[in-house]
Amino acid sequence: MSAVVEKARRFKGWAEGNGGEALPLTSEYELARIKHADGTLVIYRNKKGHVSFSDSIARKAWAAFMENRPFPMNKRHKRTKTEAMVSRLIERDGNACFFCGKPFTPDMPPTIEHLLSIAKGGNNQIANLTLACECCNRAVGSDDVAEKIKFRDKQRA
Ligand SMILES: [Zn+2]
Repeated sequence: MSAVVEKARRFKGWAEGNGGEALPLTSEYELARIKHADGTLVIYRNKKGHVSFSDSIARKAWAAFMENRPFPMNKRHKRTKTEAMVSRLIERDGNACFFCGKPFTPDMPPTIEHLLSIAKGGNNQIANLTLACECCNRAVGSDDVAEKIKFRDKQRA
């Protein structure tokens, strides 16, 4: 077992000791997936074998683990508005790009996509938002919704 996998195994035990719940991994890039009071944090291994994090809560939890400090998983932690929205969208839609359907990874992180673009009068309400990889997000730009759906169909054909 590689050192980082062994470390992740100890992290899971530590997280459960702090009130978290270890969930099954959903891709080969994941080292640990922990449900906590505010959602789910994921520790990833990127292509270079380095550890990376789903959000600032994951980063802080890992730092606490490495420094042997407690990190209560059963109380809420602060994070940015964007992180909180990404987390809500992953819970609603799953951990994959709305357009190409590929799962997000540390090398392909989610970006927030406005279905009706701001330029065309769209707002920041969750009903108008979804998650897309950077590549698809850039490709659709501020196309209208019908064009975006066409692009999605093409990506998935
Ligand atoms: Zn995509």
